[in-house]
Amino acid sequence: MDVSLLLGRLLRQLERSLPNRCLLCQQPLSQGQGLCDVCLSDHDPGDLCLGCTGPLPAPVPWRCGPCLARKRWRPLVTAFPYHSPPGYLTGAIKIHGQLALLPPLCDALAQRITDLWALGALPRPDLLVPVPMHPSKLPQRGFNHALLIANALGQRLSLPVAPELVRKVRRTRDQHGLSGAERRRNLVGCFEVVPGAARAQLALVDDVVTTGATFAALAASLRREGHGVSQYWALASAMSPARFS
Ligand SMILES: [Zn+2]
Ligand SMILES: [Zn+2]
Repeated sequence: MDVSLLLGRLLRQLERSLPNRCLLCQQPLSQGQGLCDVCLSDHDPGDLCLGCTGPLPAPVPWRCGPCLARKRWRPLVTAFPYHSPPGYLTGAIKIHGQLALLPPLCDALAQRITDLWALGALPRPDLLVPVPMHPSKLPQRGFNHALLIANALGQRLSLPVAPELVRKVRRTRDQHGLSGAERRRNLVGCFEVVPGAARAQLALVDDVVTTGATFAALAASLRREGHGVSQYWALASAMSPARFS
């Protein structure tokens, strides 16, 4: 077995055997995992624009001024800005296999979605579709983080998850450091949707949204097969306000 794989597994076992502490303030957790309630409420970003994820002074009308001026848009729901402590920790799910972060971060996003449903700001989708990972990456990472997040959200919101609906059929360059246009070129033709599946209204799920290029490419592939994509969900947003289109 690859040494880095073995080390990763040993580290995860070690973490599980240590006292359960908040990953931000290191205080012992009497219940739950990953983050304490105090850290979560201290870093609650309040209302966020459903167009660009920037801060909003009031929830209604759900979008900031520049986003309200856009004709074409799709609701993008995130729990935290990436440049905040809980948002920054989101990357540790994928990079370090820090799965203790899944429950508190998915709770926060599920709560935000539930609130938006109650306010009539967001339609309820039929199915959740996680951003797929190329199969060649699975042995190294051991899991698709977007699938874990979609499963956790599906459980909390009583929605089915359809990871088999779309596959990533071409490996792409690491998107880190690429511009929006480079990201879009990098993603051309990389998703393949299973033909003939019953058409549905979908919510696409990922860990972090940076430019929205991955969501847009995946949505375009799904729409070509007749599916509707009504919204995007991500735990954290690293977007600049009013940048998403
Ligand atoms: Zn804490
Ligand atoms: Zn906006």
